[in-house]
Amino acid sequence: MSKNENDDESPMMSFKLLNIAGRARRGQLQLPHSIVETPVFMPVGTQGTMKGVLPEQLLEMDCRILLCNTYHLGHRPGHNLVKKAGGIHKMMNWPRSILTDSGGFQMVSLSKLMTVDEEGVNFESPHTGEMMLLSPEQSIHIQQCLGADIMMQLDHVIHVLTTGPIVREAMGRSIRWLDRCNAAHTRDDQTLFPIVQGGLDMDMRKECVEEMAKRAKVGIAIGGLSGGEEKSAFWRVVATCCEALPPHLPRYVMGVGHPIDLVICSLLGADMFDCVYPTRTARFGTALVRRGGELRLNQNKYANDFTPIDDKCTCETCQNYTRAFIHAISQKETVACHLISMHNIKHQLDLMRDVQKAIASGDAQEFLKTFLEEQYLGTSVPQWVIDACDYMGYKFSHF
Ligand SMILES: [Zn+2]
Repeated sequence: MSKNENDDESPMMSFKLLNIAGRARRGQLQLPHSIVETPVFMPVGTQGTMKGVLPEQLLEMDCRILLCNTYHLGHRPGHNLVKKAGGIHKMMNWPRSILTDSGGFQMVSLSKLMTVDEEGVNFESPHTGEMMLLSPEQSIHIQQCLGADIMMQLDHVIHVLTTGPIVREAMGRSIRWLDRCNAAHTRDDQTLFPIVQGGLDMDMRKECVEEMAKRAKVGIAIGGLSGGEEKSAFWRVVATCCEALPPHLPRYVMGVGHPIDLVICSLLGADMFDCVYPTRTARFGTALVRRGGELRLNQNKYANDFTPIDDKCTCETCQNYTRAFIHAISQKETVACHLISMHNIKHQLDLMRDVQKAIASGDAQEFLKTFLEEQYLGTSVPQWVIDACDYMGYKFSHF
């Protein structure tokens, strides 16, 4: 291990806690390209573009940080080309912060042939069919060419429901790979986040937290979730990791983006999230709303509904278009996907701003009560949500 948490790697990057409410934290993450208020949702731009939303529109919404997929950028346009273009911020016309993933997860999900050994991840390129190796060093090399504010370590990803000795093996390998990533990391205007693994085993998670936290500088991620595990296991892993992690590191729970998950994880003490859900669900005509959770705009009942998606929302879509119009063009025109995506991203950003406000004012319990009432509108609140609330000390007699 060459560096530890006591070597501030750069004054450009730091995390400051502003308020604490129960387990929840409001904070400020200073990155080279922007100050990010946490808890924060990071929209995902796959190939350096957001599906259906322009960077200018994200700026308009005061989005401070995006996630870009290394795997996709590494293939097209290619990391060398991105470097030549002056880095990813310049290439995609995004002046604020960016986080890139390691590329490993996409490889696992896209490659038919994939094996992992100590050297790295061996996979068959879905573009050329040839066998390739992604090592920790190569992942860092690619991410340094891209130049995002936050890079993620390459980790040994296994399916969340995998059990047996492989879970421990993957965890140990991820720690060793973090050391290799740290050694390969040379740019001081980028920070590197370790990823806590350990499956659904709470003792292993705690053990991994200890090792990863020793090596973390600015922040840390909780990985290996949102892969089809029971929600009761999901929230307990998030709670266990947050409890075990030192307070000075922002905690990024990877792949989380459903509004209820964002709210519960934030109140459990997590700080950063990402998910393709708001833009993916927009392609199927679904808009996110506080009242009732989702609005399926393909349904005929919206054909004569001349109200906006959400009358309290200030996004461009809600200011200018009706449910009836979006219903009429839904799944026929790309503009429908664009309009819903803009609303859905704004919905997530506004939700996180409301969570921040609730933490700042000490109204977390009141916020949670109202959020659950609106989200589930008379239907029953899932048991895992009630259990998580109990664990946090919030009691709601009427759910
Ligand atoms: Zn809207």
